[in-house]
Amino acid sequence: MVTLRKALLDKIRKIIDSIKLNEPMSKHTSFGIGGPADVFAVAEDEESLKRLTQILEDNGIDYFLLGGGTNILVNDKGIRGVAIRLGRGFEKVERVENGLAVGAAAKLVKVVDKAQREGLSGLEFASGIPGTTGGALMVNASAFGHLIRPLARRIRRLKGSKIILEAELELRREDPSVIVSKMREYFEYKRETQPLFLKSAGCVFRNPPNRFAGQLIQEAGLKGERVGGAYVSFKHANFIINRGDAKATDVLNLMELIQEKVKGLFGILLEPEINIIGETFP
Ligand SMILES: Cc1cc2nc3c(=O)[nH]c(=O)nc-3n(C[C@H](O)[C@H](O)[C@H](O)COP(=O)(O)OP(=O)(O)OC[C@H]3O[C@@H](n4cnc5c(N)ncnc54)[C@H](O)[C@@H]3O)c2cc1C
Repeated sequence: MVTLRKALLDKIRKIIDSIKLNEPMSKHTSFGIGGPADVFAVAEDEESLKRLTQILEDNGIDYFLLGGGTNILVNDKGIRGVAIRLGRGFEKVERVENGLAVGAAAKLVKVVDKAQREGLSGLEFASGIPGTTGGALMVNASAFGHLIRPLARRIRRLKGSKIILEAELELRREDPSVIVSKMREYFEYKRETQPLFLKSAGCVFRNPPNRFAGQLIQEAGLKGERVGGAYVSFKHANFIINRGDAKATDVLNLMELIQEKVKGLFGILLEPEINIIGETFP
């Protein structure tokens, strides 16, 4: 653990009510994997986020903005510096003209539900995508050929930073019953084809041009392939599952094995889609 000077921690405590030291990131990721963050801080509003990041920058301390933790693999040694999560002040989901104004920490599933109840169409494809709206906008979450970023008519970031604070999503009017049936259709398909209720971080590799990564991995005979506590899902070959005791190194070694086999068989190098965070491998 990098020692943050006591004086600096005291300064941070004046701004942030909730800080934890040496916090296992496995508690904050859908993979259930990840070593400790030196400091884990929840910024409840924009002012405290601004002051916190300013202090960290002034003191040369690294920080990482965590959303729902559903698209990341945190290394076993964890995160040096501060992992920041956005708190309640960033969870709004409000009706505006032709759309919704949404805080970055609002869960995407809640936003999708609100849109349906308001009779606003455009987000149905995101049914069942876990995580926050900020994270989804950052990674440009997608499904069934639809992307989230084109729906954002405005994204507000913390000044001088990439941190997304809120966004306005442009949606179009539709009968709520039509929206709900589309949502069900998408969600059912996802549930049948993806291991939604096991520990994973979604699709591990990007689809290469004109191919599906999952199909290549399946054709390489890698469904069920295991390294330590990590294995390739039997349901969807582009998902790696933590059976409970997986380390980040297990996942990284399995990813390397998949890349080598797929490259050898098809001449295609699969690029990771998940964000690999923290001290570098091994
Ligand atoms: C079962 C399952 C199914 C999934 N299905 C899909 C799917 O169909 N389509 C899809 O695209 N993804 C899918 N995912 C992956 C993931 O849920 C999405 O990519 C999600 O949008 C990531 O959001 P998050 O809040 O969890 O981001 P995180 O994983 O916390 O972060 C991802 C990246 O975004 C950055 N970030 C987070 N919040 C902010 C912010 N406010 N400002 C700036 N940067 C930020 C982080 O620093 C990190 O680099 C799935 C995952 C699982 C576990």
